[in-house]
Amino acid sequence: MTTAHPVSEIVHIIGAGLAGSEAAWQAAEAGCCVVLHEMRPARMTEAHRTDRFAELVCSNSFRSDDAVNNAVGLLHAEMRRLHSLIMRAADANQVPAGGALAVDREGFSATVTSALNEHPNVEIRRGEIQGLPPTDWSNVIVATGPLTSAPLADAIRRLTDENALAFFDAIAPIVHKDTIDMSVAWFQSRYDKAGPGGTGADYLNCPMTKEQYDAFVEALLAGEKTDFKDWETNTPYFDGCLPIEVMAERGRETLRHGPMKPVGLTNPHDPKTKPHAIVQLRQDNKLGTLYNMVGFQTKLKHGIQQQIFRTIPGLEKAEFARFGGLHRNTFLNSPKLLDPQLRLRAEPRLRFAGQMTGCEGYVESAGIGLIAGLSAAANARGASLAPPPATTALGALLGHITGGHIETIEPGNRSFQPMNINFGLFPPLAVPPTKKTNGSRLRGNQKTVAKKQAISARALADLDCWISDHLRVPAAA
Ligand SMILES: Cc1cc2nc3c(=O)[nH]c(=O)nc-3n(C[C@H](O)[C@H](O)[C@H](O)COP(=O)(O)OP(=O)(O)OC[C@H]3O[C@@H](n4cnc5c(N)ncnc54)[C@H](O)[C@@H]3O)c2cc1C
Repeated sequence: MTTAHPVSEIVHIIGAGLAGSEAAWQAAEAGCCVVLHEMRPARMTEAHRTDRFAELVCSNSFRSDDAVNNAVGLLHAEMRRLHSLIMRAADANQVPAGGALAVDREGFSATVTSALNEHPNVEIRRGEIQGLPPTDWSNVIVATGPLTSAPLADAIRRLTDENALAFFDAIAPIVHKDTIDMSVAWFQSRYDKAGPGGTGADYLNCPMTKEQYDAFVEALLAGEKTDFKDWETNTPYFDGCLPIEVMAERGRETLRHGPMKPVGLTNPHDPKTKPHAIVQLRQDNKLGTLYNMVGFQTKLKHGIQQQIFRTIPGLEKAEFARFGGLHRNTFLNSPKLLDPQLRLRAEPRLRFAGQMTGCEGYVESAGIGLIAGLSAAANARGASLAPPPATTALGALLGHITGGHIETIEPGNRSFQPMNINFGLFPPLAVPPTKKTNGSRLRGNQKTVAKKQAISARALADLDCWISDHLRVPAAA
């Protein structure tokens, strides 16, 4: 990247994981002096095994590398255009994995570590930051990840509030709205209650007969689950949000008295028949493209989730933007707490990046690190960086974290939960494609494919404009 004018203000980055390493690289390349603080090896997390930067704690895959048809592949492409260190190291250490980008994990982390060690603008300090950073650190990026050490996490929680920092995620599956069969489902809030900010018809409802419900409960009980790691079992998720399969284990009727209760709702497609149980979905993003399955946090394996949830009437053809899950995690209620530049509204010298902001996955964490690094560098120069357009993968993810998600309208478990990049986060196309290049009409799945391809092409074109307008660096091919 072409280096901008040098700046004197130091950018302190806490955590040299996927996000912190990328943020440090971007800020250093932009001419800032960067101090990168990493607690390993003196203090390890429960999942990291080495002292290297950007250690991959589990899978060695960066998922699909298809920038035309897949949202994470598009994110790869955008990050390459912004000269991402994480993408450069991944490309240099690629191992065969079909259409996916998988890496030799040792080589990958070694490449990132040496690039930062050797960068003249980066100073590495090994040591745990055990509370809020000193007040004379005026430009800080906190990128300490899902396993942020306890003293720092406690300090952040005290600075925000009790409910603003979660230590466990409880992820309900999310469905692309345009794949829900509206000849079966219908919009209605229970007892038509409008509630704060609601209309009285805020939920999508899917009705079940007794036979369908019984078969569904059987499938939940039989379905294969993922295990908790030993160190996850003590985390206090049990208080608030039981997985649906655990509720099902407590008795055949438990779900019908919980998230699947059929009361206060009338099916307009068949008003005389009272459903035995009802699955509700609630709008998840302001664009209205994504709906989450209310109360359906689960530890069922992803393949089984798709199989079981597609037996729900109305969801037979559902496409999932996110599957359910429960993990030890550390993440902020970012839509409420962070400004569009990822700064804590209550203390803007602190910027957050990576999984702590509520994104999910290696690539997404690095992507948010990239934007945080560029924004911190702009601030260090006394300027500010406009966020990437919402039509780009980086902008769509950033937008979701800093405001695109819709807060739940009833009390209970916090509704903002970690999210991977997916096409449901992008604004719809002004004119969706209807014809092939030869003029014949697109049919069935061809329309979905063409739509994704048009969203991807729009994203890369808009990113190039943003780069030339705001970063003054030539875009990489
Ligand atoms: C067990 C587990 C398995 C996972 N598996 C996958 C997977 O297969 N695929 C996937 O895409 N994602 C996976 N994830 C999610 C993954 O962790 C994130 O996607 C990604 O690593 C997050 O990047 P990050 O930079 O936010 O955090 P990290 O990469 O975890 O980096 C945070 C860094 O901060 C350091 N740190 C923490 N506290 C302090 C402190 N107080 N002072 C100084 N340094 C500190 C840590 O040592 C670490 O180096 C997994 C997460 C966990 C916990």
